[in-house]
Amino acid sequence: MRVLFLGTGTSHGVPVVGCPCPVCRSADPRDSRNRASLLVRGDGGERILIDPGPEFRLQALRAGIDRLDAVLVTHAHADHIHGLDDVRPLTREAPLPVWADPAARAELEVRFAYAFDPPQPGGGVPRILLREMPPDGIRVGGVEVRPVPILHGILPILGFRFGDFAYLTDCSGIPETSRPLLEGVRVLAVDGLRMRPHPTHFSIPEAAETARSLGAREAWIIHICHDHSHRDLEGLCSDLSSPDCTVRPAWDGMELEFRDDRTAD
Ligand SMILES: [Zn+2]
Ligand SMILES: [Zn+2]
Ligand SMILES: [Zn+2]
Repeated sequence: MRVLFLGTGTSHGVPVVGCPCPVCRSADPRDSRNRASLLVRGDGGERILIDPGPEFRLQALRAGIDRLDAVLVTHAHADHIHGLDDVRPLTREAPLPVWADPAARAELEVRFAYAFDPPQPGGGVPRILLREMPPDGIRVGGVEVRPVPILHGILPILGFRFGDFAYLTDCSGIPETSRPLLEGVRVLAVDGLRMRPHPTHFSIPEAAETARSLGAREAWIIHICHDHSHRDLEGLCSDLSSPDCTVRPAWDGMELEFRDDRTAD
């Protein structure tokens, strides 16, 4: 299994529209952070997208996505779903299953109502099969997907686990009941908005502490704002690393490979 980070930025993306700060004006491509999204590629050719954010079209073109087998939605905030319409060209052959929790599902039904009640035959709408994620997960081809309930402020949302990798975006807390679901996770992609605390996102020190408390060996920080450049974050994260757990900022276009793919068990 391989995972490709399509976007590692916070809700407004980086650069932020109209912002003159050094990070937003940086020439380093790693300081350009699209809205948070991940592509999972299974060993059997499975293609699973987490969160079709506002830049989905550009991310898909850049990554050469020509097929999707499933879309997973963490929650229905604009930065995670507003690109859903752009899956349309990938739904010509067959409708695309989109999995979400009940709250996000209800929200998607309202915001993309036109896709579920097409106004005219042959109209330009994405063909979407909206599905409710079962608590014990789903299987997409040979890839097992396990939902992990997490907290985004007071909002319950979903993280996802694939074998020994877990993706926890927009996370400010992990309920005790979800900790067993993350047992044995080796690599964690985890929300770390910035160094300072925030009510609905982990700070980077909190993200590092969370990864360590879960026993992860690697923590990749995602959903990053414009407070720090990638280069600065490398140093700040290095200071938060320990011999047991390496902490690093993720970047758009970064890929991780999992050779020992337990999802294929
Ligand atoms: Zn977000
Ligand atoms: Zn800025
Ligand atoms: Zn959010």
